[in-house]
Parts: sequence; structure tokens; C-alpha cells
Amino acid sequence: MSRRLLVAGNWKQNGTVASARALTAEIIAGLTKSGDGAEYLICPAFLHMAAVSQAVQSSPGVPLQVGSQDCGVHPDGAFTGDVGAGMLVDAGCSYAIVGHSERRQLFGDTDALVAQKFGVAQEAGLVPILCVGETLEERESGKLEQVIHRQLDAVLSTVWSLENATSTSLPVIAYEPVWAIGTGKTASPEEAQEVHHLIRSRLADNAGQISDQVRIVYGGSVKPDNAAELFAQSDIDGGLIGGASLKAPDFLSIGKAADQLMRNGL
Ligand code: PEP
Repeated sequence: MSRRLLVAGNWKQNGTVASARALTAEIIAGLTKSGDGAEYLICPAFLHMAAVSQAVQSSPGVPLQVGSQDCGVHPDGAFTGDVGAGMLVDAGCSYAIVGHSERRQLFGDTDALVAQKFGVAQEAGLVPILCVGETLEERESGKLEQVIHRQLDAVLSTVWSLENATSTSLPVIAYEPVWAIGTGKTASPEEAQEVHHLIRSRLADNAGQISDQVRIVYGGSVKPDNAAELFAQSDIDGGLIGGASLKAPDFLSIGKAADQLMRNGL
């Protein structure tokens, strides 16, 4: 089994059109066109997407994709302020993050809404990146497994039919312990591996073998100095990177760790 590592940057609500364009150019300049390394993804704010996509599309061969940080559930229509999956595809997106803990905690995204976003994104041809993860309180009170299962099952029981999935259309899972996001605290490689294994087992229970091909990336204070050790774990298939993805040298250096592992056959 070999899964192509994914190095994804979540830029959150940061920057201007000009700075997003400059950051994209710096990342493109640091990537090689060879196809034997990791796959890279950047997820800018909606407003910056067109400029970023344009820059990416004018550099064919570079292993870089554009994704969104969220996805509206409605088709075109009277949904003031929302951005639908079709618009994201039109703007050059190929991935959509759904269920990020900031959306769950600050904007009230429930498991049911996340599942709906997941389904709508997938139907539009986007690869959903489903974020799951526990708070510190949930971990310390022994609820880790229950929380991860609940967040996964919401999608598995409704919109994700692994039985029918092909390896090219497979969604991505991001394990992001809430206590590690933007805090500088990282799960140890062993702690992260344990949860990634739990996630893969849950997928396997629902769909058997194809779960071996699903990429499960880790997010939570990934930095150049901890990326290699995290990505070397058997069930960790790259990272979802917040803060460090806003600095091209750091993002590229995290990516190099993934490239290296891939070229060494993991
Ligand atoms: C994130 O928000 O998805 C994230 C992982 O952030 P950070 O890398 O800053 O912890």
C-alpha cells in the first residue's frame, strides 16, 4: 500500500489579495515539478481564491492544488453571504475542508451540518477533507474514542459510501486535536498515530479494504521541526497546517519532509 502524502495549508482569515498572491508565488517557486513527491494544497480565504487559483493554473506541472476552508450546503439562490460548492469548483478549487474545529466551535457547525457539507462538496466534484478531533476536556475525561467515532459516523452513516468509492475520489480525513490547534502543543507522533489507527479501523469496519487507501492527515501545530517524525508514522499521511502555512519557507520545509519520506518509499 502506498498513499501519496498530502501537505495542506489552511490560511484561515488572513492576508490581502496581494499577500495571498505573493505567498502563492513563493510556494510555487519552491516546489519541484517532479511527480514523485507529496501533493500540496493551499486553502485561502474565499475572497482570495480567484487570484490564488489563477497563479496556480499558470504554473502547470507543479503539484499544487487549491482548496476551500468550508463549503456552503445550498445550490445557487437566496442564501445571503454563503458560498456554494459549484462556486468553489468554478473558482478553481479541487478540495474543501469541512468540519474544522473552528467552524464547529465558533460557528455552530453540527455533525449533521458537516455531513451535509461533505456530501454537497463530494457531489460537486470536490474532495472533502473531513476534520475530526477532541477537546482537551474530552481527552482527559476518557471520551476520545467516542468523540472521534461520533464525528466519523455522522458522515459514514449518511453521505460517505466507501463501498462505491474509487481510489481517485476518496475523501481525506484530518485528525486535529483541538488542544493542539494554534497552541504550539503538538500531539506526540505516538499519540497521533494511535488516533489515526483508530480512525482507519473505523473506516475499515464500514468499508473494508479501501480504507487502506484513505489519506488521514494530522493537524495541530505542525512545524518544520516536528513534521518528519509525525509523517513517518504508518497511518499519518501528511498534514493540515495552519500557522506555519502562512510562511512559505516553513510550509515548504514541512513539505520537504513529506517529499523525502515519499522518495525513500516511506
Ligand atoms: C488548523 O487550523 O487546521 C491548524 C492545524 O492550525 P495550526 O497548525 O496553527 O495549529
